[in-house]
Amino acid sequence: MLIAILFLVGAMALVVLIAARWAGYLRGTPGLTRSQRQVLEQYGLFYRTLTGEARTRYEHIAAHFLDHMQWRGAGISVVDEMKVLIAGTAAQLLHGLKQFRFTHFHTVMLFRDTYRSGRSGRMHQGEVRPSEGLIIISWGDHVRGYANPSDGRNVGLHELAHALWFEHKAQAEEGTLLHPERLQDWIDQADAEIERIRAGNSTLFREYAGTNQVEFFAVAVEYFFEQAAQFREADPRLYGTMKDLLGQDPAADRRA
Ligand SMILES: [Zn+2]
Repeated sequence: MLIAILFLVGAMALVVLIAARWAGYLRGTPGLTRSQRQVLEQYGLFYRTLTGEARTRYEHIAAHFLDHMQWRGAGISVVDEMKVLIAGTAAQLLHGLKQFRFTHFHTVMLFRDTYRSGRSGRMHQGEVRPSEGLIIISWGDHVRGYANPSDGRNVGLHELAHALWFEHKAQAEEGTLLHPERLQDWIDQADAEIERIRAGNSTLFREYAGTNQVEFFAVAVEYFFEQAAQFREADPRLYGTMKDLLGQDPAADRRA
């Protein structure tokens, strides 16, 4: 009798476990492998500056991004090293946020180098297509973005900032990636800076940043990481708002 009850309880537990797993509740994010960590140790400039909890969170986000995205190459075979470094760029941008999961963007496509976009007809280093859940990056430009880490140009950060912006809008009803009030502060302050850029009076940002709010956000992210101290000096209020919005302070972190 006892054996029969134990068997029944065991069988029921197994059914619950299978159902939970199937429903996705127990599907954990795989961690980074040893070789993936080595790639970051070797080439992940930002990763190497992190310690403790921030480093753990960065690894967790990179592993999730790697696993969540489908990876496609256009005229290039996408090897693990490329995926790890793009996922690392995502983790650089997202590791200070409470929520970091992209659900609407599901594919990363890499070109070998600068490419002619079928959409615009112009040469591109990258683009995002929110309606297709697609992030496109030129691998050559991604590498060059990190080869000079202080020129305020980084296409990987630029395109992932676009993805974050559109992902936030797409997720607005389910919850939010970016704090709504901080984002509103940012938008209010950005408009003033965009006016200065258009008038040729910005002391920091390149002209392209004056295109519109979406482009300004992406360019501001590039400067936030690559010229943090200059950004803080040129516009301390906007820098402070970005620091709160992204939950990290690269100007202070670099100095420490
Ligand atoms: Zn852009």
